[in-house]
Amino acid sequence: MAKMIVAGNWKMNASKEAVTALLSELKQGAVSVTNAQLVVFPPFPYLAQAQAELSGTSIAIGVQNICAASKGAYTGEVSLAMAKEFGVSYVLVGHSERRALYAEDDAQVAAKFIATQAMQLTPILCVGETLKQREQGLTISVVTGQIQAVIDAAGANSFANAVVAYEPVWAIGTGLTASPAQAQEVHQAIRAHVADVAPEHAVGLKILYGGSVTATSAEELFTQADIDGGLVGGASLQADSFLAIGQAAK
Ligand code: PEP
Repeated sequence: MAKMIVAGNWKMNASKEAVTALLSELKQGAVSVTNAQLVVFPPFPYLAQAQAELSGTSIAIGVQNICAASKGAYTGEVSLAMAKEFGVSYVLVGHSERRALYAEDDAQVAAKFIATQAMQLTPILCVGETLKQREQGLTISVVTGQIQAVIDAAGANSFANAVVAYEPVWAIGTGLTASPAQAQEVHQAIRAHVADVAPEHAVGLKILYGGSVTATSAEELFTQADIDGGLVGGASLQADSFLAIGQAAK
């Protein structure tokens, strides 16, 4: 069985000292994680440090956001080529905090997805519904609509080299987690939607669950048929909890 992915989104939390401490504990503990690819997503200023400290280990590096343009007058932005120079292999695109706080729309998300693949890096496409949308019974249509926007722009074949993260907005950073059954229902719908247009890529597509994942909730979430790992925020800032989530991947 293919390895799961357990990805740690540090968001805007880091210092040189904290990064060294966290990565050294992760390096020591990584041997205990046998069925998951661990990936850390530090803020940009710490990429060089992460690359140096993780060199020769199995832990991969990702970035939390990227600019779709390749270079030029984009004050404050970071390009894929720059990220790649620091050993980055994964790029989060469309995280709900980017969609909500920075008004990233489906077109921008798709552009980042396409640019990431063009640089031979793997996008992790984040999708998810708000609480209001769930209460209105719109969960599946919202999530498959976000997937379809990328299919329209990038083509169905693009899912051969992509990861999807289902992150209900109401579960991110709130301590609320979708139940395993709720998560499985959406993951299954995502896989079925991709299967409609690209059956050959749907089976192997990794679909991560994110939203207040803890070591305890990961145990059951990871047993669901269509859950292939986790995108972890808060619990990825402590080595013991992040490693325990990695160990829950069986
Ligand atoms: C996230 O940042 O993608 C996330 C899921 O955060 P948390 O685990 O803290 O809810």
